Amino acid sequence: MSTVQATGSHVDPRVPVLPDGLALKYVAEGAANVIWRISLPDEQLTPPPTVIEEYSETTPPPSDIDIDLDIGKENGTVTANGANAPIITDYSHLLLRLRKCLPSSESNLLAYEYLSSVIMPLFPPGVMVGQELVKLPPALVVRANDTLHHLERSGVRPSHRQQLYLAGDPRPTEQQMDEGYAFLLEDMTPDTSVGEFLLEFKAKWLVQSPSAPENWNRCRTCALRLRKYNKAIKKGKHAEWRGLCPFDLVSKDPKRAKNAVRRILQHPRSEDEKLVERVTTALMNSPQLSILKELQASLDPKGILKADHKSKEFLTAMTLRDCTFYVKVSPTEVQARLGDFDVKSGEAGKSEYWIRNEHELIGEGWYTGTEYGDHPWKAEGLEVVCRV
Ligand SMILES: [Zn+2]
Repeated sequence: MSTVQATGSHVDPRVPVLPDGLALKYVAEGAANVIWRISLPDEQLTPPPTVIEEYSETTPPPSDIDIDLDIGKENGTVTANGANAPIITDYSHLLLRLRKCLPSSESNLLAYEYLSSVIMPLFPPGVMVGQELVKLPPALVVRANDTLHHLERSGVRPSHRQQLYLAGDPRPTEQQMDEGYAFLLEDMTPDTSVGEFLLEFKAKWLVQSPSAPENWNRCRTCALRLRKYNKAIKKGKHAEWRGLCPFDLVSKDPKRAKNAVRRILQHPRSEDEKLVERVTTALMNSPQLSILKELQASLDPKGILKADHKSKEFLTAMTLRDCTFYVKVSPTEVQARLGDFDVKSGEAGKSEYWIRNEHELIGEGWYTGTEYGDHPWKAEGLEVVCRV
């Protein structure tokens, strides 16, 4: 549960209702959600009667409703005129995210209230991946769960995801968990047929941890990565000690920023100098990095060891240190969006974990580069040193 208080306000009565006749196509799933591509059935040029019934008597007929839902360009804002609740007729650039019956997950309504009251106000339009709350007809969840069962039987659903289905299915035979809402997301899927691809990365800590010792040589992200490497190899696991330094990304030095972008692009794309140049220029000119950097600094000036772990500001800073960049690269354009804003809470041992991590990074010399052990970066010329 979040300690960031949801607004407690009621959801805008204009929250759109999804028609239950939508065609659904399974795209992917994570631990807590399943992503679907959706479309109106071919013959359905106007919303089905089930949707019309959802509206009040004052609702104009569909032909009078301005059906323009614009997610993404307006930072997730629904724009619709002339109706209490807008109807969406074009789903071609949207994906539907349905929540699974995972007891530890937050309801979509609470997740949206957190996003709309805490996170969205921090960013101007077009910076975040567009997302909007929609009301969910139970019949749609029933069909989606039937599809999951079918995919499971035919061996298409990943084995480690099986046996967990979607919340909001009213059938007594299904796992029971209430969920009346879903998210419509701006579709960042690249069109590979025209040479597009998607980069995903976390920029992590763009300013130094206020708890780092004054004589630090490494940023929080690089210090933590090296310590994780050290722990992994002790357990005989594979780990990577080379990685993206967030300070390079925000250094305003094109050479350093390019080094960071090469890490993001990875081999063989990182060998394409023109591509490196193009993505570097786009990221350096994008508003995301500078906004995130500024917010991380202003929301957590004290750092993990001194901050109030119940404060909304500190927890928001932790969320912003863990959000994800989605960068769609096409032959002519580079489009960056931020997403994956998970509510952070110091509960369930998380607060103790953050503090323990920070003490270890300081005490074992990971910030200062004085850690004990014979590590690959100790070889001449490979030392990991970060600069602001
Ligand atoms: Zn670094």
